[in-house]
Amino acid sequence: MQILGIESSCDETGVAIYRESAGITAHQLYSQVKLHGEYGGVVPELASRDHVRKTIPLIKAALSEAKCQPQDITAIAYTQGPGLIGALLVGATIAKSLGVAWNKPTIGIHHLEGHLLAPMLEENAPEYPFLALLVSGGHTMLVDVQALGAYQIIGESIDDAAGEAFDKTAKIMGLDYPGGPLLAKLAEQGDDSEKRFPRPMTDRPGLDFSFSGLKTFAANRIAAANVDGQEPSGQASANIARAFQEAVVDTLAIKCKRALKQTGRKRLVVAGGVSANLKLREQLAELMAQMGGEVFYPRHEYCTDNGAMIAYAGYCQYKSDKLDVGHEIKVYPRWPLSEAV
Ligand code: ATP
Ligand code: MG
Ligand code: FE
Repeated sequence: MQILGIESSCDETGVAIYRESAGITAHQLYSQVKLHGEYGGVVPELASRDHVRKTIPLIKAALSEAKCQPQDITAIAYTQGPGLIGALLVGATIAKSLGVAWNKPTIGIHHLEGHLLAPMLEENAPEYPFLALLVSGGHTMLVDVQALGAYQIIGESIDDAAGEAFDKTAKIMGLDYPGGPLLAKLAEQGDDSEKRFPRPMTDRPGLDFSFSGLKTFAANRIAAANVDGQEPSGQASANIARAFQEAVVDTLAIKCKRALKQTGRKRLVVAGGVSANLKLREQLAELMAQMGGEVFYPRHEYCTDNGAMIAYAGYCQYKSDKLDVGHEIKVYPRWPLSEAV
């Protein structure tokens, strides 16, 4: 069984093939980062047009990488939502058209389910049930995962997502887009002389998050440092980056600990772009050691958007007979994870 996966929800075109007996046999990715960098954020219309240009060449490259022909493909999985409507429509239209041309079933996948299942592509794969911390550019949530398709959201951000807070703070600091990884890099050079940043919403019960205040706090600290005449790339900036990162990571770890206690889960799965953050990994490893549990991550290239996670989620759905019905092209720009079945 071989599943072709197509990801096009935002600014990455990802195509991969998952083979039941061998795992991922093709992994093709085109990032539009340079295209949008000029504008400091994703321009939806430009994103759609670039997916149009890149998807078919990447599918051809994936087939050749996996040394297989269209007739060897069992089913085609594609990201059906949530995401940018135009971008989603490109992937869905190509997937459905190939489905008709090749006479293969198609499977619409929830993008966040793709992120959540990505750690299962690793050798030491988590078993159900587990607690998941999903930290990406658009979402921050704690999900109690009982089984495939049984997702209970027990906490989420009431404003900015963690990745969004990283990106916005990085932008204020004058770093390039997307600034999250650059801010994390800068934080490595920081020392602990910067004022302690708040840990939002940790002083009251509950599992929700709020990150937009941290961005404002950082903006004020940057303004204060600039008054001292320091360059944004100087030591003061690195210290602010470090204090900001520590606040985000600490907040995430505090809420994970609470959620683990509440649910009694022993396995923690961390997924989405921010799961690439080394400080977060370090701190959650400590937490799980302390709690006698285990933490699971996707490898670096499967943290941010990619086709492998869609191909794998497609494989899981195919095995549970969750195929598209009919040829209608449907995408869901807003689609709560709890409604993914
Ligand atoms: P969603 O999946 O919610 O629709 P998305 O697909 O845009 O959002 P991802 O591709 O999962 O998000 O992740 C991208 C985000 O991850 C960006 O905000 C980026 O800054 C952040 N990110 C990536 N690497 C790091 C890192 N090392 N430290 C902090 N943030 C990071
Ligand atoms: Mg992206
Ligand atoms: Fe994503």
